[in-house]
Amino acid sequence: MTKPRALTVTRPDLPPLEDFLPYLQEIWDSRVLSNGGPFHQRLERALCAHLGVPQVSLFANATLALVTALQALRVGGEVITTPYSFVATAHSLMWNGIRPVFVDIDPQTLNLDPAQVEAAITPQTTAIMPIHCYGTPCDVDGIRRIADNYDLKVIYDAAHAFGVQRLEQGVPRSVLNHGDLSVLSFHATKVFNTFEGGAIISPDARTKQRIDHLKNFGFVDETTVVATGINGKMSEFNAALGLLQLGRVDAAIRRRGEIDALYRTLLADLPGLRLLPRPADATPNHSYFAVLVDEGFGTSRDEVYRALRAQDILARRYFYPLISDFPMYRGLPSAAPDRLPVARRVASQVLCLPIFPAMDDDDVRRVAQAVRAQAAGARPRVAVPAGATALSLAA
Ligand SMILES: *Cc1c(COP(=O)(O)O)cnc(C)c1O
Repeated sequence: MTKPRALTVTRPDLPPLEDFLPYLQEIWDSRVLSNGGPFHQRLERALCAHLGVPQVSLFANATLALVTALQALRVGGEVITTPYSFVATAHSLMWNGIRPVFVDIDPQTLNLDPAQVEAAITPQTTAIMPIHCYGTPCDVDGIRRIADNYDLKVIYDAAHAFGVQRLEQGVPRSVLNHGDLSVLSFHATKVFNTFEGGAIISPDARTKQRIDHLKNFGFVDETTVVATGINGKMSEFNAALGLLQLGRVDAAIRRRGEIDALYRTLLADLPGLRLLPRPADATPNHSYFAVLVDEGFGTSRDEVYRALRAQDILARRYFYPLISDFPMYRGLPSAAPDRLPVARRVASQVLCLPIFPAMDDDDVRRVAQAVRAQAAGARPRVAVPAGATALSLAA
């Protein structure tokens, strides 16, 4: 197999095809293709054990899972959320007729800032929908305190947070145990993929049962429908692949960690290039490697982005534009540009560099070198005569 020349921001990790064939044979033999079949049940149990969470409901994708999570908790009115995310976060609110209220993010974690959340609460607020951006845990304690005080639900968009743990009283625990519900994505581009897929993590069997009814049209049995449910079910094909992928994901995250460490070494001393701090007291999953290109770099983020593209290094600007700048959101009062200064600045500076388990160290060096070459200091300077001023040079 030849190595593709282009370095995309991510490349899905897949098992050898022959390892998947016995699973396919089983599906062909049983003719059970969907509707909570044996692979679906096995993957739900395996994920509970692997992640250390009480209940998992598999979905066809995370977007349907987010829409269903809001239904399950009967959330309405206004929900406080972040503009610095993938559009599906806010779209899931709109699909439920809920008004998103955007608040600004913390400049260090890029996650919702609890103080700003509290300041945005109105009598219509029913819930908070934060994301653990790039897998960095939110200030879950701060968010819980606010939710408890104001009796709000918390639904975490945990699409980036597969396998992320926090140290709690010295014990590592899944970050997915926080909030009323957490939603995972198993899309092709994520750390753990089932081609397409997602899940809701819930705290108890009763909540899981309600969610499982909602993802199957509201059916409880052959003739009873208890809710206007949707078809959100994961197929047996995706679930079987997930079982196989679960055996690979720890090694994949380990390799991502090595790549992260190498990038940090190679890019550490570049003026104007900010690396996000490693999350304190958390085991990250290295799902993204984001850098912030500020004025001190001497070259704009978009120039760096274009220069990398020209060398077949397909870094991505996650998250630019802000969700609040898309046409269906920009008319909202909370979307006003001056209310989201941190998110706006970060969106103009961020670049996510390629990171995926199949990258070798030379790939990482190639990317780091291409970034370094864009730093103003790295380019030949125009000789400036002694005593010259900006004005005299411009004249
Ligand atoms: C990928 C992603 C989603 C959507 O996941 P799908 O499984 O593709 O529906 C939602 N939110 C965030 C933050 C994501 O990164």
